[in-house]
Amino acid sequence: MDTRAFHKMSYGLYIISTRFENKDYGCIVNTLTQLTSTPAQMSVTVNKKNCTADMINKSGYFTATPLTIDAPMTLIGTFGFKSGLTCNKFEGLELERDANQIAYLTQNTNAVFSLKVSNTVDVGTHNIYIGEVLDAKPLSDGESMTYAYYHTVKGGKTPPKASSYIDPKAQTDVSVKESEVAPKEKVQYVCSVCGYIYDGDPLPDDFICPVCGQPASVFEKVVS
Ligand code: FE
Repeated sequence: MDTRAFHKMSYGLYIISTRFENKDYGCIVNTLTQLTSTPAQMSVTVNKKNCTADMINKSGYFTATPLTIDAPMTLIGTFGFKSGLTCNKFEGLELERDANQIAYLTQNTNAVFSLKVSNTVDVGTHNIYIGEVLDAKPLSDGESMTYAYYHTVKGGKTPPKASSYIDPKAQTDVSVKESEVAPKEKVQYVCSVCGYIYDGDPLPDDFICPVCGQPASVFEKVVS
């Protein structure tokens, strides 16, 4: 299988959130899809290891907000790479709550959908949640961020828990030979978790990635 075929797929980026026992949970997915319009139904696929999946299982409700292209990498890093068990991802952000008291972002987004889970399909590593849309409203005229925009313009990476993650070891890589012969000019350190680039050399031992919060040990030296 040539996994580069999967890179031809087109996706958006969404924050999925839920609430259980008075605590808010959320994560970023690229798997929100409208299924039908009458009645309005959507589905979302979430990794079972993700805290948000666990809480959707318990609450039976979630909200979805499409991210817009002005969403900063720090926001994507918080919701895409950190765990709700170790931090409050919603702290300091512009929020509102839907009829079920589920928090949703009103910044860097352009719409909100409130859903009730009607069916859960176990697909191995992930659960697909099929939901009835209880409410929906536009929030801004901002342009929705596609996954391609996130990768090419924002320089973002795919976290291992994402549905579309491809293990680099299993990937057909045609770029290695090109980088091997590139002249040595500039040293940078790239966060292997989120793609954040530290410009400078050396990388301090106590450096913490400002996007995903990982330590210096996950950074990879890149000479270009
Ligand atoms: Fe990072």
